[in-house]
Amino acid sequence: MTNSNYDLFVIGAGSGGVRAARIAASLGANVAIAEEKYLGGTCVNVGCVPKKLFVYASSFVDEFHAAENYGWDSGTHKFDWNTLVNNKNKEIERLNSIYGRLLSDSGVDLINGRATIVDTNTIHINNQTISAKNILIATGAWPMVPEIYGSEHVITSNEAFYLESLPDRIVVVGGGYIAVEFAGIFNGLGVDTTLVYRGPLILRGFDEEMRNFLTSEMQKKGINIITNNTIESIHKEDKHYRSSLADGNVLNTNMIMCATGRTPNTNGLGLELAGVETDDNGAIKINDKYQTSNSSIYAIGDVTDRYTLTPVAIAEGMSLAHSLYGDKNFSVDYINIPTCIFSQPNFAMVGYSEEQAKDHYGDIQIYKSEFTHMKYSLSGMDEKTFMKLIVDKQSDRVIGAHMIGHDAGEIIQGLAIAIKAGVTKSQMDATIGIHPTAAEEFVTMRTPA
Ligand code: NDP
Repeated sequence: MTNSNYDLFVIGAGSGGVRAARIAASLGANVAIAEEKYLGGTCVNVGCVPKKLFVYASSFVDEFHAAENYGWDSGTHKFDWNTLVNNKNKEIERLNSIYGRLLSDSGVDLINGRATIVDTNTIHINNQTISAKNILIATGAWPMVPEIYGSEHVITSNEAFYLESLPDRIVVVGGGYIAVEFAGIFNGLGVDTTLVYRGPLILRGFDEEMRNFLTSEMQKKGINIITNNTIESIHKEDKHYRSSLADGNVLNTNMIMCATGRTPNTNGLGLELAGVETDDNGAIKINDKYQTSNSSIYAIGDVTDRYTLTPVAIAEGMSLAHSLYGDKNFSVDYINIPTCIFSQPNFAMVGYSEEQAKDHYGDIQIYKSEFTHMKYSLSGMDEKTFMKLIVDKQSDRVIGAHMIGHDAGEIIQGLAIAIKAGVTKSQMDATIGIHPTAAEEFVTMRTPA
């Protein structure tokens, strides 16, 4: 049932759009949300959620191996890809319906279809013209594939979640979150995996020492990492693809996955009709109130290409809804956003890298700890944990925490609260550890490196 006149019309029912719509409706606004694909957007359907399920699936191989030295006869293990994909699909369908229920329970009208903007206050969808006082664009982003000869043969993360079968050999192109996470997934599931990255070291922008450490842990697990190289062309040959690299080498694999970044979903939205400006990459330009160059039209989340993380999009959705219909001072604090790359082992961090901290603070102290996680002590596994704290010497404040190791994301999430609250190194030193845990290392590092 749709109205023809709304307070807020949201385009895109991903994490940010759904949160904005629900909060706005709960604050009394008359809200509709349009979605052309799936409820929950990238995160629920082809992103965070299925990715984490795949990471779990691929990490069992180490668990089986470790279990043997704990006395388990773990027998033989066979992995069935279709079971994983089918169960993952069921879980996603469950989440899709929860999203639908959340919207209807909040009184938001859900319209399935592709919405386009006609002018400042008008939207066209399913042959209907709808007006709204405000429009919110929360259409997210879509995988970008470089234009190279044979690029029609590559898959992206979108397709990786629905493969009919696993390949024997894969090349993953890119050195960002998705490439690193999927290299670990495929490798753990028994696929011969090569990662090709154009730069010298994966995960540009993160702490260099952590990047080196992760590279070596990934290599120990069997991932072949090729840096300073790119695929220049892809030729399909009988049962495989032949990828020619810039250095003249050739990789023969059964699948090539590009994880080379994502482009904001703004094509064909009608932005120009409403005077909504974008940058060269198609990202919508916004001010600090999420307002576009048309003051009645807002944008949040990945479509603005700023902090492309689900929890940020959700926070922006809440902030916008509150500022339009509730508490005007409800704002997002973008300082110290923690993040985790679900590589194997996980890599999580909050605050400054060592390089950034040196630039910003000059006089810093570094504390480090490298050890074998207790769980692996009996396992015979060669996986190492690495932690690093960065402290501003003058104020004693902890300005960065980094961890590579089991459940790093879970541990850094807690530490992120302390760092956000301005914790000092002395306060961390005065904190009693929980023994024996890996996390206690964060409160027992005493000697600067
Ligand atoms: P990223 O921007 O993280 O990484 C893209 C990678 O592709 C970079 O290594 C980049 O190299 C490389 N690249 C870009 N263009 C080309 C090209 N033409 N040829 C070869 N390589 C290229 O993007 P992702 O797609 O991995 O992820 C998108 C965003 O989604 C992330 O930035 C992150 O914010 C979010 N995300 C978050 C996750 C999480 O929280 N765990 C998981 C997955 C995604 P270079 O470094 O040289 O630019």
